[in-house]
Order: sequence, then C-alpha cells, then structure tokens
Amino acid sequence: MIPITHVSFTHEEEQAVVKVLRSGQLAQGETVAAFEKQFASYMGSGYAVAVANGTVALHIALLALGIGPGDEVITTPYSFIASTNAILYVGATPVFVDIGKDFHIDAGKIEEKITKRTKAILPVHLFGNVCDMDIIRDVARRHDLKIIEDACQAHGAIYKSKKAGSIGDIGCFSFYATKNMTTGEGGMIVTDDKDINDYAKMARSHGGRVRYYHDFLGYNMRMTEMQAALGLVQLAKLDRFNKIRREHAAYYNELLSDMPQLVTPVVAGCVQHVYHQYTIRVREQKEKNRQTLIHAFDGAGIGYGIYYPVPIHQQKELLVRGFRGNFPIAEQLSREALSLPVHPKITKKQIHFIAEFIEKAL
Ligand SMILES: *Cc1c(COP(=O)(O)O)cnc(C)c1O
Repeated sequence: MIPITHVSFTHEEEQAVVKVLRSGQLAQGETVAAFEKQFASYMGSGYAVAVANGTVALHIALLALGIGPGDEVITTPYSFIASTNAILYVGATPVFVDIGKDFHIDAGKIEEKITKRTKAILPVHLFGNVCDMDIIRDVARRHDLKIIEDACQAHGAIYKSKKAGSIGDIGCFSFYATKNMTTGEGGMIVTDDKDINDYAKMARSHGGRVRYYHDFLGYNMRMTEMQAALGLVQLAKLDRFNKIRREHAAYYNELLSDMPQLVTPVVAGCVQHVYHQYTIRVREQKEKNRQTLIHAFDGAGIGYGIYYPVPIHQQKELLVRGFRGNFPIAEQLSREALSLPVHPKITKKQIHFIAEFIEKAL
C-alpha cells in the first residue's frame, strides 16, 4: 500500500509538545508568540497571527478588511470549499471566475467580473503552485481592491522571490494534518499592515486586547501552545520537506510527460512550486480514462486523490443558495484531475513503480 499522504513527526516534535505539557501553560503563552515571530520572518512578512485553522484565518482576513453583506469577493470555483465558505460566513457574495488549465483562477478574466460592489480578490494557490500575482495585483491596484491569498496549500512556494501569502494584503495558511507542514489543526494570517495584525489578534480572542475588556464582537479562534510547539519544529523542516517534494515531482514529470493521455503540472518559470499535491490531468476519452486508472489503483493499493470531484459552484450548498453559472474549465478539470503520492516519505522506487503502473493501465 502506498498512501497519498503521510504524517511525519520525530522525537523533536514529541519533545517539544511534552515540554509545553510540563510547563503548565497550554494557551496564550510564549510558544504561540515564538511561532508567529518565526513564521513572519520565514514569509518575509511584518506580522503573523496564529489561529485555530485555515478556515478561520480566511474568515478573520475578510473581517479585518471590513468585508460584509452587500460586498462581492472574486474567487475561484476550483478549490477546497473553505475558500468560498469564508466569504459566505461574513455575509458577502462570492463571484466566481473560471480557471485556466493550470487549475488557478484565470487572472485575465477577473476584470470583467468587477462591479461597484467588488471589495476584494481571493486567489487560491492550489496544490503548492502560485497564481499569476502580477496580473492580479495590477487589476487590484487599478480598481482599488484588496487581495487575500489563500496559501493554505502553498507553504514556502515562491513567486518572483516573494513567498506565496506575502504578496497580497493578507495571506492565509492552514496546518491541517495533510499540509506540507502540520500542527494537526492550525492556521496563520500574515500581513505587513499593523492595523490588520492588531484587528486579527483581537478578533481571534473575543475582540479584546486586554483580558475581559471587549471592543467588538470577536471569536475564540486561538491556537494552543501544543500546536505552536509542533509548528516551530515543522517550520524548521519545511524547506527540506519541500525540496524532496520538488525532486519527486521532477521524477514523475520525467517519467510521465511523454504519455499523450496525460498532462503533467503546468508551472510558470517565475514560480517555485512546493507540490502539496502532484496533480496530473487524465484526458477525457471513452476508454482508458481517469476511471480506468483509479480502478486499477484501488486494486493495486496505490493511494491517489481527486481534488476536487465537484467544483464549488456545483456544490449542493451553493445551488441551494441560488448560485448558477458555467465554468467549463473548472468542470472539465474536476473530471480530469488526479493527484499521485508526492509526500517526502515516498521513495523514487515507488514513484517509478507508479509511473510504470500508469503506463500499463492506460
Ligand atoms: C486546507 C485548506 C483550507 C482550510 O484549512 P483548514 O485548516 O482545514 O481549515 C482552505 N483553503 C484551502 C485551499 C485548503 O487547502
């Protein structure tokens, strides 16, 4: 059995958590503060605010920009549902723009969706790749829009020497169990804006700066000291993990790029992809398609992922809310996408085995 994901902790993470447990301080202590400081420094951002998960990072980011009912936020229909749910939580309206063949929002099509109500663009750096941020920043600047980057799959990815998540006004990260670095559950907001940092720190803790004094309606969206202890150790390993993922992806590319039925990942020259997922497209055809392949994988014990089987605009939740629209590329890629195991624990031998297996099955 070759799994699609692998959680990798050593005695370093164990010791770090035990140290916190023995300290008696489990929440709102110095470990969270230290993790925030390290994360901001790694990202090259002025500030970082640790929160309970990536979904609430996005939620707080929208609140911090004052986005609410009557406002529109432009985003992608091809992501994990949290990217859109955060917009719905604050009462704003998600406006979808179809994706390109690289799975990202088609930056060239954003402008035609801008209205008087548009307040922000929420691009998602999917699978560890980075969106075309030059175009997105240019559109945002010309229309006075904010940019919230969903970098929940792109820890350490680089676009023209800047880290994904540090390019827009706010970057949001997740440390869920399957991400390139993990704290089990966890999230982070990064920004260069002091006011956003101050707001986010208060919003995650019932709208207060000082305990039991509450300035506005906030939440309990805090990260624990145990999570932060894991995060500090995982952050120190992130570049090494990502380098191995990139090597694995390069090996897959070498083995798979000659196959006419497949399309290997499309990566811009100015991007350093961190391969949260290694996602290929299996072209739609009557026979020997994605279905053939996953059936064979199931039989052979090869793990795979389908991210995502249903684009967001076609999720029942959105249909019930009256969302309609045609996003043909998002729909096509949801039928073609197939993610192969690329995590650091897989071996080159296993990659070779999987590639050969695919060639035979197709
Ligand atoms: C994981 C993820 C999230 C949400 O993060 P959680 O920590 O699971 O709440 C948001 N957006 C994307 C693209 C993700 O992959």
